[in-house]
Amino acid sequence: MLGGAMSEERTYTCPTCGESVERDLLVFLHHTDQHIIEAIKKDHPEWVKDDGTCPP
Ligand SMILES: [Zn+2]
Repeated sequence: MLGGAMSEERTYTCPTCGESVERDLLVFLHHTDQHIIEAIKKDHPEWVKDDGTCPP
């Protein structure tokens, strides 16, 4: 990143990926949601099968 260590507390460092997230509850919740979805996908690959229509 450019700049230095002068960033104020306008961002929140995600404990999961270490990424700087805007210090906004909705933004942070959306960000953590992605991690939760990723975790579910890892444990349940069959949970996301949107690769096409699968007629019964
Ligand atoms: Zn994260």
